[in-house]
Amino acid sequence: MAKPRVAILGLGIMGSGMASRLLSTGFPVAVYNRNPEKAVPFASAGAFVAGSPREAASRSDIVISMVADDIASRKVWLGDNGALAGATRGSVLIESSTLTVGWIKELSAAAAHRGFEFLDAPVTGTKPHAASGELLFLVGGSASALATAKPVLSALGRETVHLGPTGSGALLKLINNFMCGVQAASFAEAVSLIEAGGLDRAKAEAILTSGAPGSGIVKRAAASAAANDFTPNFPLRLMAKDLGYAIDEASDRGLTLQTASSALAVFRQAITKGHGDEDFSAVVKALQQT
Ligand code: NAP
Repeated sequence: MAKPRVAILGLGIMGSGMASRLLSTGFPVAVYNRNPEKAVPFASAGAFVAGSPREAASRSDIVISMVADDIASRKVWLGDNGALAGATRGSVLIESSTLTVGWIKELSAAAAHRGFEFLDAPVTGTKPHAASGELLFLVGGSASALATAKPVLSALGRETVHLGPTGSGALLKLINNFMCGVQAASFAEAVSLIEAGGLDRAKAEAILTSGAPGSGIVKRAAASAAANDFTPNFPLRLMAKDLGYAIDEASDRGLTLQTASSALAVFRQAITKGHGDEDFSAVVKALQQT
């Protein structure tokens, strides 16, 4: 059976890896990026480079958006040049960016209004996982839409978990990332205390990362800080975005995420110091700077 045609909207760190992965596994791919320069290498790799999300969607069976935030998502889906205006009958529309549940529900309703099935399918995993097809998809939406999208998601991910109705994937992703943000911020504060207390930093970090506090995200932050390499896999500004979105989701449900609020303050401080475009792990470095 012919492979479905896929549109990837957004060729940032994650979208570019996903588009490359689909091309290398034989899917016909159309790409769109706001800054057209980022799309140029994909033409020589065999992708159709679209001039708008609408054009990309018009040539595809599965449309996947992978952009920064709610504002960017609105931009690629809505309006005369948006993907909703170009999508063809029977297409499944997928939003894989990390976004608010409110916007996901609004977008799902707009898709349904035009007769399209829609999935929220944000991911865990980072740059190398996107490029190697090892993402984990957290999916909200109908089982029938997921069945149609499965061949594509299986090429991009090691696992796809159907969590429930529209918005379920988006909510769990924000919960996942707020916990990551809290742990990274606490590690950054721990390093400050290690230094202020005159401990041997390498020995102290080895104890922490190999012991109970050594979660995957803490290990990643420690490794980047030790290598003094803050090349972004997951940009710090996006971690701050996710903490803010999670705080708002909780607030909408009458809850207060106190730890997320504290972590967000730490990340905002790092952004103010100019580290927003570096990897999230630069929060460790930012706290050392007076
Ligand atoms: P990124 O490298 O910063 O790329 C962001 C993308 O969004 C770019 O294609 C950018 O286009 C586009 N964009 C931003 N604002 C826009 C606007 N107003 N209109 C149209 N397009 C716009 O981000 P990323 O790391 O790929 O992350 C993409 C999404 O995945 C985010 O929601 C992020 O939270 C989530 N995520 C990231 C990771 C990770 O490890 N990086 C992991 C899981 C989930 P330009 O190139 O023109 O700026």
